[in-house]
Amino acid sequence: MSVQRYWAPAAWVGGGWQPSVVLEVDAAGHWSRIEAGAPAPQDAERLAGPVLPGLVDAHSHAFQRAFAGLAERRDGDDDDFWSWRDRMYKVANAVTPDSLRAIAAHLYVELLRGGYTQVCEFHYLQHRADGTPYDDPLALSMALADAAADAGIGLTLLPVLYERAGFGAPALRPDQRRFHAGAADVWQRSREFERRVAAAGRASLVPLNAGLAIHSVRAAAEPAIVELRRLAHAFDGPIHVHVAEQRAELRDCLAATGKTPVAWLASQGWLDARWQLVHATHVDAAEIAATAASGAGVVICPSTEGNLGDGFTDVPAWLAADVDLAVGSDSNVTRSWREELRWMEYGQRLKLERRNVCAQPRGSGRPQPDTAASLFERARAGGGRAAGHANWGLAAGARADLLVADPDDASLLGLPQARWLDALVFSSPGRPWRDVMVAGRWALRQHHHVQVARIASSFARAMGELWGD
Ligand SMILES: [Zn+2]
Repeated sequence: MSVQRYWAPAAWVGGGWQPSVVLEVDAAGHWSRIEAGAPAPQDAERLAGPVLPGLVDAHSHAFQRAFAGLAERRDGDDDDFWSWRDRMYKVANAVTPDSLRAIAAHLYVELLRGGYTQVCEFHYLQHRADGTPYDDPLALSMALADAAADAGIGLTLLPVLYERAGFGAPALRPDQRRFHAGAADVWQRSREFERRVAAAGRASLVPLNAGLAIHSVRAAAEPAIVELRRLAHAFDGPIHVHVAEQRAELRDCLAATGKTPVAWLASQGWLDARWQLVHATHVDAAEIAATAASGAGVVICPSTEGNLGDGFTDVPAWLAADVDLAVGSDSNVTRSWREELRWMEYGQRLKLERRNVCAQPRGSGRPQPDTAASLFERARAGGGRAAGHANWGLAAGARADLLVADPDDASLLGLPQARWLDALVFSSPGRPWRDVMVAGRWALRQHHHVQVARIASSFARAMGELWGD
């Protein structure tokens, strides 16, 4: 791939809209030049509308896409996260490498349409449903890599440390057997995944990398986390962990350790800039301050948290503490970051009975009076870090990912440029992005994905096998 040159009438550079932007991609699929206020070079392709960086979907369980929309009825007196989880496990235990590949490829096309160009897979499906290992321990991991290559999205695989059913439980439940992975397994799978994709030259098709994950403080005992940290002492990639999503988990953690999950992790002195705290829903001011001091990031999944009835995290407190807030599609009931950002703000409006809660007025730590821009910039920077990319966005050296908004989108017609992002987040019924580029290659052009018919029919077949009569 030689150098490619593009020109956009406007692009999101340095935290705001800039006019007349030249974008140059080098042979490795990174931006070599981003220059605003420059005339269009003769050999540049003119992009059709305003350009934004793609965002990272910082938390996904791809297989749960097969369950989206199928847990929305209540047959008993009560329904909560834990009853949802029991039903979700039935899907988790029915998925095969082939069906996971089909489900994930379709999901990843949807995520591209929703404006994500990289997805972090919090991957805990390791073995056959009865717990016996596949001949290839990476069978299900490689199914995700194949799906990412098929769709054309970047993937960060996060093999998950998962050893017990809860605090004080000696092991996993029978319906959790296929999730089992100890510290050495997680470390080896992460390193082997990167070795394998590099050796096969696969990373030249789509960007693939791996980090590490710990399911939660309840599902991994202290010695296992200590061991994973020892193995990863020189590792500078991301380490993700579910924390404080449900109040029952807080109560159990308090009973077992005397502390709530974030306070416990912080008190061990483990948190640093590699760590990503996923959900962090039920936290107090001291836990927010400890997280901010550690440099760790937070991943919020507003549509899933709403769907599961998790509760509201204190977004204004996180913003005031200057912590990056990446977004994740998690259970994949929603596959668009615009909807996640909208719900991040609307949750707070509903809770606090105020407006523009996530804006950062002038005089604050990172002033940004526009709500959408405030959330977008946190999600851009935080998402990049969650995927192991410190430099993420339309900037020299960052990966050449971009989104072209459709200038014919009704939400943009006639609006001043300064309001475009507000309109895309708050006044858009969800018209997808017109064009999407990942690492210098077009994944979507004029709303079209070249493999969509084949990917959709494989997905429909896999769904039929799971749910058909
Ligand atoms: Zn999750």
